[in-house]
Amino acid sequence: MAVYEYDYLIVGSGLFGAVFAYEAKKAGKKCLVIDKRRQLGGNVFCKNIEGINVHAYGAHIFHTDDKFIWDYVNQFTAFHPYINSPIANYNGSLFNLPFNMNTFYKLWGTKTPTEARLKIADQISQLNITKPKNLEEQALLMVGPEIYEKLIKHYTEKQWGRKATELPAFIIKRLPLRFTFNNNYFNDKYQGIPIGGYNKIIGGLLGGVETKVGIDYFYNKKELDAIARKIVFTGKIDEFFNYKFGELEYRSLNFVEEILQIDDFQGNAVINYCDACVPFTRIIEHKHFEFGKQKYTVITKEFPLSGMKANEPFYPIKDSANMKRYGQYQSLAKDLPNFIFGGRLAEYQYYDMHQVIGSALKKVKQELSNF
Ligand code: FAD
Repeated sequence: MAVYEYDYLIVGSGLFGAVFAYEAKKAGKKCLVIDKRRQLGGNVFCKNIEGINVHAYGAHIFHTDDKFIWDYVNQFTAFHPYINSPIANYNGSLFNLPFNMNTFYKLWGTKTPTEARLKIADQISQLNITKPKNLEEQALLMVGPEIYEKLIKHYTEKQWGRKATELPAFIIKRLPLRFTFNNNYFNDKYQGIPIGGYNKIIGGLLGGVETKVGIDYFYNKKELDAIARKIVFTGKIDEFFNYKFGELEYRSLNFVEEILQIDDFQGNAVINYCDACVPFTRIIEHKHFEFGKQKYTVITKEFPLSGMKANEPFYPIKDSANMKRYGQYQSLAKDLPNFIFGGRLAEYQYYDMHQVIGSALKKVKQELSNF
């Protein structure tokens, strides 16, 4: 019988890999976590610039309805009581998000839910759409033409790099529409930003676990496969199978950071830019996530781009062609009993943080019970 140096080799130090490693270590298993990036943490990694925790791979706001998951992350650090209340900039005017009574008041002067509902219903009644065929029609039916044109259409087209008429309707079903004066983007019971940034959580999860950064699994696959009894793979599933059925498509973002020698640039952590002529979708001002009082400020502009090959794969494009392709890779994965595929990239899922933690906890529990 082969003798292995590790019980688990974990490829990827994002939340999935880190939670798996933490639980496996707690159960007495020996793990090695590797990552091809130069640091641990996957997409929740934070850089410290001017004393500010900068979310290096896009703004990350933790939210969940699940008390167990909330308590789980709170064991590593306490959280700032941050409430995500983004603002939209359209043609120089500012609107509250998600669409709520503040947004409707700014647009039309409507003061009650009844007035706002009537206004939207009136706009929708003039459309000739019964069964929405695409994102544009779905959004028009939900909010009417004015909100759609000003606050959805161009932002969405920039984000996905496609016309709204070419996007599936289901994407927009996630947009909340509210008839109260409540700017809280999420409906979840628990929400916040870890004090000291997400590195605190990753540091807590990976404390005492052997880790190596700057190592690409595929450059050393044969040697790495031989050192562990099982491999937990959290990278791209299509890459794992050498793109045998073609590439799974993603959207990506180019983050352009600026240090500004002023203490406050925009007064809010997240401002969306909804005009077609502005090439970026959002400006993030990181200090506001933690109510920072630093002398200077750091902002990041997010420019959407294709997520293929060289670019970071951020948002899976889950249309029927990609889902079919993913199904083909998934059936190959099922035939590899020594490999566990998990996380956003290996499962081709848009997981939020609480979901990926939940998924990793479920998988590791299942795995350890069969070990
Ligand atoms: P990742 O964090 O992507 O980790 C995978 C790791 O595997 C990476 O570090 C990668 O370098 C490594 N890897 C891949 N291939 C290899 C290889 N061949 N060899 C070695 N290492 C490899 N969630 C929220 O709850 N709230 C938010 O506000 C939020 N905002 C987001 C904004 C953006 C722009 C993005 C992209 C995501 C956001 N998320 C948010 C989702 C959140 O980032 C994910 O749920 C979480 O980070 C997924 O963890 P993961 O471990 O599955 O993947």
